[in-house]
Amino acid sequence: MIRIYNTLSRSKEVFEPVRPGKVGIYLCGPTVYKPSHIGHMVGPVIFDTIKRYLTYNGYEVTWVVNITDVDDKLIARSREMGVPMQQLAEQMTADYMECLRTIGVDGINHFPRATDHISDMIRFIEDLVRKGFAYEADGDVYFEVSKASDYGKLSRRSLESMEGEGGEGSQRKHSVVDFALWKRSKPGEPSWPSPWGLGRPGWHIECSVMSARFLGETFDIHGGGLDLIFPHHENEIAQSESRHGKPMARYWVHNGLMQDSQASAKVGGRISRPTQPAEDDIQAQEAGKLAGRHGAKSFLLLLQEENLHPEVVRFFVLGTHYRRPIEFSVERIREVGTAVDAFYRFFRRFSRITGEDPYRLPTPTRRADGQFHPGDDAFLQEVAQLRNRFLEAMDDDFNTGAALGHLFDLVRRINKQIDDQRLEEPGARTSDRIAALRQATITLRELGALFGVFRKPVEIAAQPQDHLVRDLVQMLIDLRTEARKKKDFAAADGIRDRLAKLGIRLEDRPGGTEWSFAK
Ligand SMILES: [Zn+2]
Repeated sequence: MIRIYNTLSRSKEVFEPVRPGKVGIYLCGPTVYKPSHIGHMVGPVIFDTIKRYLTYNGYEVTWVVNITDVDDKLIARSREMGVPMQQLAEQMTADYMECLRTIGVDGINHFPRATDHISDMIRFIEDLVRKGFAYEADGDVYFEVSKASDYGKLSRRSLESMEGEGGEGSQRKHSVVDFALWKRSKPGEPSWPSPWGLGRPGWHIECSVMSARFLGETFDIHGGGLDLIFPHHENEIAQSESRHGKPMARYWVHNGLMQDSQASAKVGGRISRPTQPAEDDIQAQEAGKLAGRHGAKSFLLLLQEENLHPEVVRFFVLGTHYRRPIEFSVERIREVGTAVDAFYRFFRRFSRITGEDPYRLPTPTRRADGQFHPGDDAFLQEVAQLRNRFLEAMDDDFNTGAALGHLFDLVRRINKQIDDQRLEEPGARTSDRIAALRQATITLRELGALFGVFRKPVEIAAQPQDHLVRDLVQMLIDLRTEARKKKDFAAADGIRDRLAKLGIRLEDRPGGTEWSFAK
């Protein structure tokens, strides 16, 4: 039983799709006016994981992400750059697709572009005018918010409070809270013919139109960042439910946003003495700004310049509960890389012991297929238990952070089993022990697949100097091996102890010496 937090009810609800066995997901996509940054990858990674999990549980999932390729920001940016809007939109859409491919988001079934659905939008708006929910004013068409009796139900705002806030003022609107469905075009702007003259659609209407087109008038999950609850999703609901007379989506699922790491707050906290605020404070703010610059950088450039592995970024995003904000900093991503390297080290260990490629193990793709019978093997019983815990966490509103914790427990438990049974030594390897190790590794990959990870080997090399560190440590390991061959154990132990003081731990294995950073 899967439970999902529904913003509409502000509570976790048992997941039941509109049509048995099928799930439709709509996620508000990007306005393609500049290259995607890391913040744009948060929603796709989260909903990719949600789709994987629902598919694993037997649902047939259709996932739609719209591309906003006509918009004020796009028009402004194309003027600035002296490039036609359509050309800019195509380039930036290609960049977005490349980012998704890089970070392993491959489950999106449809990417409808707003400009491909203009005539559907015009028909939709005509219906709203005919039904009395919208009015034309001098070439613009507005939605009359006071006509939607339950307007504000998603964001839980009252009309009075919205009027108090003002909103974008236009003489042509009946009320400040009314929003544009269609905008009369100014000279030189991209435009389409309509019953109200040349113009272009407002932003909210495209999602109402394209979600209905691909998923039906009522579908299962509508997703987006928390910042879209108001006004965007509130307006989508008003448009769709006024036209169709039925709920737009069953579950409104909102993810937290990526924010700059609060480096300034942390550093500032240490120098709380009121007499000496100046220099450290400025440095702290500089640090905060730097993170901001990184955060806004093109995602592909960020990966390249900082030498970050996209799979580590996936772990970084999924390490936080999807409803919480994610604190971004390159250092935090590197820390995640150091932690998850435990998985890749284990996979190398597995292939050393079994001679088998762990990435080619047959991996169950359905929940029922991954179940196995541990019998009276205590180790396998624990593996089955950790698998259950992982799945329970995912069942509970896709708690990927808790699930990841269980995944770490699982790899630790498998490593312990290898150590306890001394499986690095060929003599200790019985077929039963290897079969159990193999089963545990299959389970690890099965659960990893739900996060979209462990598809191929990953080398965690965080920074250029890491290569130097690796080469230097390897040199010392070689010198130590030489010393041991010459029975100079004092020198060999000296090297090991001095490395240990630097936080580097050596582990002697039959196949050679492995090293890692001690925690
Ligand atoms: Zn939308």
